[in-house]
Amino acid sequence: MTTSQKLSFDVQLSDHARTAAEREAVLASPGFGKAFTDHMVSIDYTEGTGWHDARLTPYGPLTLDPATSVFHYAQELFEGLKAYRHANGSIVTFRPYANAARFNQSCLRMAMPELPEDTFVEALELLVQADRDWVPTTEGHSLYLRPFIIATQVGLGVNYPSENYRFMVIASPAASYFSGGVKPVSVWLSTEYTRAAPGGTGAAKCGGNYAGAFVAQREAVAQGCDQVVWLDSHEHRYVEEMGGMNLFFVYGDRLLTPALTGTLLPGITRESILTLAGDLGLKAEEGRLSIEEWQAGCESGELTEVFACGTAAVVTPVGSVKGADRAWTVGDGTPGPVTMRIRDELVGIQYGTRPDPHSWIHKIS
Ligand SMILES: *Cc1c(COP(=O)(O)O)cnc(C)c1O
Repeated sequence: MTTSQKLSFDVQLSDHARTAAEREAVLASPGFGKAFTDHMVSIDYTEGTGWHDARLTPYGPLTLDPATSVFHYAQELFEGLKAYRHANGSIVTFRPYANAARFNQSCLRMAMPELPEDTFVEALELLVQADRDWVPTTEGHSLYLRPFIIATQVGLGVNYPSENYRFMVIASPAASYFSGGVKPVSVWLSTEYTRAAPGGTGAAKCGGNYAGAFVAQREAVAQGCDQVVWLDSHEHRYVEEMGGMNLFFVYGDRLLTPALTGTLLPGITRESILTLAGDLGLKAEEGRLSIEEWQAGCESGELTEVFACGTAAVVTPVGSVKGADRAWTVGDGTPGPVTMRIRDELVGIQYGTRPDPHSWIHKIS
C-alpha cells in the first residue's frame, strides 16, 4: 500500500438506467446473483503509484487483454455482504468493516495490495446510494454487494504477482440464497476431494477455492444432496465447513463450531453467532468434531441440531447427512428451535426489528 491520502471518487451516473417499471419487474422475483443494478465502482492500483482513479460509473462489461493475469493465474478474491432496507426507509449494511478487514487478510495471502478500510466502505456506500432504489422493500430481501479484486497486468510471466489490479463493487438484488425459504438442507461428506490444506488458501475468500470445489458439489447433487461438507485434508474425518457457509453443532444449550485452523473461511456470520450465543444464554465454543462423533451424537440424541451460516443464506438448518459409507438424520430432520432462535435474532438485527447491542449496523442512507 503506497497511498495514504484519501481517494476521491469521480461520479458518472448512468444515462440509460432502468426505468422504475423495469426495476420493479426485476425486484418482483430477483433470485440470487442474477440481476445487477445500474452502477458499479472501480478503483485501479498500479505498483509504485498505489490506488488511483476511484470512480462510480454505469454498470457494464470490462474490456481486458486475453493475456491479463487473472485469466491465467487466478489472482482474484472477493467479499460478500448485504444492504438491508429498514421499515423507516433507511438503508444499512451489517459489519462492513469486518468485510474490509477480511478482504485485506485475503489480499495478503494472495500477494495483492490492501485497500484502506475506509475506502472499501466508502465504495459500498457510494454504490448503494446511487442505486438505493434497488434495495428491495420486500421482507427478507436485500441488496447483495460483491466487492472483488482482479490482477490486471498483461503478460504470462508466472514468477511474480501482478503489478496492476482493479478493485470493483457490483450489486445484485437478492431474494434468499436457497429457494423455498428456511428448509433444512441435506449434505454430502466429501471424502474424495479436499477444499483446503494447511498452508493453502482456505482462509482467503478467493475464487480458486470455489473453482476446485464445483466437482464435489456436482457429486453431492448426484448423491441426492444439496451441499458439500468439507473435511480435513489429512484424515478426511474432521468437519471443516460447507464451502460457502460455516457450520454449528447444537448440544442442547451449547454450540460448537470448528475452530479456525487456517483451512476454514473465517465467516462474519459465524463470528457474530459466537457473540450472539452469550446474549441468548447459550454457551459457545470452537473446537473439533469428527464425522463419527457427529453421527453418534445424532444417534444418541445428545447432538440436537446442526446449522450452516453465512451472509447469503443467513442460517440454514442441516436435516440429513450422507457419506460414502454412512447416512443419518439430524434430530427429526426439521428446523430446530435453537437454529430458528439464532436466525430470528440475527435477521432481526439486520432488518432493524431487534436491538443492535454490538453496534453491527452501519447506516448508509
Ligand atoms: C463467504 C464464505 C463463508 C461465510 O462467510 P460470511 O462472512 O459469514 O458470509 C463461509 N465459507 C466460505 C468458503 C466463504 O467463502
